[in-house]
Amino acid sequence: MAVEQEMADVHPPEAEDISELLPETDCKKCGYTSCSEFAEAVLEEETNPHKCPDLDGEFADILAAIVELNKDPIPYNLMMEQVPCELIEINSPDKDSPLLITCNFQETVRIMKEILESTSTEAFLLPTHTHGYSVDNAVHEKMFKAMEIWKAIKDNSVEARVERTTMIIPGLAESERNSIRQLTRWEVLVGPISGFLLPLFILNNK
Ligand code: SF4
Repeated sequence: MAVEQEMADVHPPEAEDISELLPETDCKKCGYTSCSEFAEAVLEEETNPHKCPDLDGEFADILAAIVELNKDPIPYNLMMEQVPCELIEINSPDKDSPLLITCNFQETVRIMKEILESTSTEAFLLPTHTHGYSVDNAVHEKMFKAMEIWKAIKDNSVEARVERTTMIIPGLAESERNSIRQLTRWEVLVGPISGFLLPLFILNNK
């Protein structure tokens, strides 16, 4: 049986996820007693990331934008709606921009676009054929396939668009990493579980 699909593959970030991205020195300069407390306050929008003087400005800007995003659950009547497996350019990417692999569930693609656009992240987003399943359901149902990723890369002539043959797959699809790498011969990075944290992952891997 497929796992619960509601908000399935773009899990909203939790305070612990944010805390792991902070300096973790508990220096209290932000006015909170620890980095984890500060992370909770950022998520609750009681403070903003710029209050931590040790955070890079771009990182803080992106984190602030992520916190403001709508994280409402996906309505059930939209389940399994599919989009074409066509390369999507986000914020005018160039040859050095990352290639992000996702499923072809309409709502996942819509939310990922919103996350990337609102954080000014330049990227290529490539939906691959998962029969409309979200990433975690697709992995569960063996529908997140290396062959479909390879087909989408070829059909969209992605190799002519990017400098590096490196792709980022969703954290929820980590189990598929080796099979994708073996079939495509591309380097495969595993992104975060929460799609909302993808812009920060990209920034940290530039
Ligand atoms: S100022 Fe930054 S490093 Fe210091 S406790 Fe606050 S969040 Fe942590």
